[in-house]
Amino acid sequence: MITQELTDWGRPLQQAIRDDLVPSGTEVLIGVKYCGICHSDVHIREGFFDLGGGRKFNMAERGMKLPAVLGHEPYGVVLSAGPQAQGAPLGEDRLVYPWTGCGHCSVCLSGQDNWCQQPQYIGIQRSGSYATQVLVPHPKYLIDTSGIEPSFAPILACSGLTSYSAIQKLLPSAPNDWIVVMGAGGLGLMAVAILKALGHENIAVCDIDELKWSSAKEMGAQLTFNPNAPSCLQSLKALPSGIAGVLDFVGAPNTAQLGIAALRKGGRYVIVGLFGGEIPISLVTLAQRAVSIIGSYVGSLQELHEVVALAKSGKLKSIPTQTCSMTEISSVLDRLLAGSVQGRMVAQFPASEDH
Ligand SMILES: [Zn+2]
Ligand SMILES: [Zn+2]
Repeated sequence: MITQELTDWGRPLQQAIRDDLVPSGTEVLIGVKYCGICHSDVHIREGFFDLGGGRKFNMAERGMKLPAVLGHEPYGVVLSAGPQAQGAPLGEDRLVYPWTGCGHCSVCLSGQDNWCQQPQYIGIQRSGSYATQVLVPHPKYLIDTSGIEPSFAPILACSGLTSYSAIQKLLPSAPNDWIVVMGAGGLGLMAVAILKALGHENIAVCDIDELKWSSAKEMGAQLTFNPNAPSCLQSLKALPSGIAGVLDFVGAPNTAQLGIAALRKGGRYVIVGLFGGEIPISLVTLAQRAVSIIGSYVGSLQELHEVVALAKSGKLKSIPTQTCSMTEISSVLDRLLAGSVQGRMVAQFPASEDH
């Protein structure tokens, strides 16, 4: 198989030829056709996430060893299965749920693999899909997405699922309650599309890049704001009945401060973005305003089934997607770091051209 590997932290990915993978136990081997290229791989390639106050979440200290194959949004054909992988749909195309856990703790058994204390995420702890082949631990993580464009399906496993799960944490909410989406990148646009598909009406998007405002409006946002404008907080607070919820897909100190301050009493601020940093919080006003600050990280297998069903229903608008070849993945990560990608990039692998 051919891989794009991370051999040194912070360095471009390198192409390598490796032995073909062989599934054992309940594992399933996927011939990768498409893989979404995710902003979180920019941080993983660097080797750390900024936790604020000079602290770092260091990938090497958390057990990640190099060389490593990143890539956690695989879509491809089921090539073969281990002897215990019952019901693997050999020869059929499937989307992969990548946020797998240990498989036997109470959290995993409750269906919340993404919260497992011993995560085994594909493309982070397990070898990923910036490669022509990837192993999936169990056939239950394969999802039939027939009817959905195969270059769009991979996006559902990460940005689609992440946005959907974050939105679930704001519900119930009246369709005309104002919801603010911070950041009009892949996740933010996806959140707007999902909110619209779920029947939500009043959505405002904040992004410093005014070039992204038109995409936000095309996806269904009514209003757009520049979060750095001095009047932004006042404009948000002036919306009828106030802001019921904020989805922060940036996760920087200024977006967090703005988002929490903009909420009406009882509002919910959901943080997803991993830009990093920290903010001081007034504990008294947190209680008096009865606001919730909620973290959200990817989503569960059940939630991915729900997002896929929403996409199959035809209600979910597909966000702008561009494809590139597997040799371009590293340069796309550079462009994501520079903030010069509109919508979402998906790498296309040679197997996608087989008939
Ligand atoms: Zn991702
Ligand atoms: Zn577990």
